[in-house]
Amino acid sequence: MDFEKNENQLMITQMVRDFAEKEIRPNIMKWDESQEFPVDLFKKMGELGLMGVLVPTEYGGSGFGYFEYITVVEEISKVCGSIGLSVAAHNSLCTGHIMQFGNEEQKQKYLPKLASAEWIGAWGLTEQGTGSDAGGMSTTAVLDGKDYVINGSKNFITHAISGDVAVVIVRTGEKGDSHGMTAFIIEKGTPGFSGGKKEDKLGMRASETAGLFFDNCRVPASNVLGKVGDGFVQSMKVLDGGRISIGSLALGIGRGALEAATKYSKEREQFGKPISQFQGVSFKLADMATELLASELLLYQAADRKNKGQKMTKEGAMAKLFASEVAVRCGNEAVQIFGGYGYTKEFPAEKFYRDAKLCTIGEGTSEIQKLVISREVLTGN
Ligand SMILES: Cc1cc2nc3c(=O)[nH]c(=O)nc-3n(C[C@H](O)[C@H](O)[C@H](O)COP(=O)(O)OP(=O)(O)OC[C@H]3O[C@@H](n4cnc5c(N)ncnc54)[C@H](O)[C@@H]3O)c2cc1C
Repeated sequence: MDFEKNENQLMITQMVRDFAEKEIRPNIMKWDESQEFPVDLFKKMGELGLMGVLVPTEYGGSGFGYFEYITVVEEISKVCGSIGLSVAAHNSLCTGHIMQFGNEEQKQKYLPKLASAEWIGAWGLTEQGTGSDAGGMSTTAVLDGKDYVINGSKNFITHAISGDVAVVIVRTGEKGDSHGMTAFIIEKGTPGFSGGKKEDKLGMRASETAGLFFDNCRVPASNVLGKVGDGFVQSMKVLDGGRISIGSLALGIGRGALEAATKYSKEREQFGKPISQFQGVSFKLADMATELLASELLLYQAADRKNKGQKMTKEGAMAKLFASEVAVRCGNEAVQIFGGYGYTKEFPAEKFYRDAKLCTIGEGTSEIQKLVISREVLTGN
């Protein structure tokens, strides 16, 4: 493996950095405090190709691989985790599911709109009663003539209100049967389909999170993604890639926290010298930098396997687990290095700390990643 960033990654890094400094950084606390989901920003990112990073060019996407994808999510998340989370969810969940399992007609219809951000995508697996145990879901789709009628709800869905299209996984068979669930594409405005109230969150506040509701929502059978009964198995494959997303998000937040803490430690003086000259502070920076590089290398390994079409369930889960826990440690240490100022909203450290925590929960908690990794280890994979 070549660990040097290729020409494409270097170009993307600069382009995303410039964009984030100009369009995101000046607004982050305004969006954070008001919990505003800045839809117009996503349209601008669509114009730059950041909303269809992995989508092939024939469907209007950028046609890049996972190394470039990590770069995009990392660079945005260095500045704002909320925007990074929404970019990641749009690219790898909704768009990723249609890209991997849609038929030609579905790909032609939805991918160009999603890649350009003309449409924002949502993806619904989690329910109120079933998060880690997603396979135990209660929302049902029942065949009635040529349509399916969906009843129930989904919980904690990114872009549940502003999303123009959602991929939702619902029960079409028996509970407990991993082939008893099916993925459907549902467009905003479909009668009986609505978004709920926005969650008031600890962090990631500019990324919209809400419930999705289905009240006798009728969708044509042609909206099924792949085969009836394959929805859960498809979701697990989508989440394999999604773990690279959340790992990259965590990497970006951690690096943002490190950059801010490093700069501050050189400026802040106590006992007549910059606090960076105290080993108690500089060793924290050393630990952060080391763990972040280790996160990046785990992510690159998972990305390399994904680019080659190899199984990467274990590697993706390891990268997500490690990078998320590291991001939380980096957020924590950044607040510590900023001292009392780190505890205020005048300085960036507290936001990195709040945003980072989502990474150990979303798309499978740290405990669930360990479950996945241990299962792979025990079966010799
Ligand atoms: C901001 C945000 C955005 C989200 N976006 C989406 C989205 O777009 N689409 C979507 O479908 N979902 C989304 N989610 C949901 C997210 O994936 C779930 O919250 C997550 O999977 C955990 O589920 P839960 O919240 O029900 O927790 P639970 O499953 O109830 O877990 C509670 C605790 O029990 C632990 N636990 C559970 N089972 C086990 C076990 N077997 N062994 C050990 N420990 C266990 C967990 O690790 C956790 O610590 C989002 C959540 C948030 C907060």
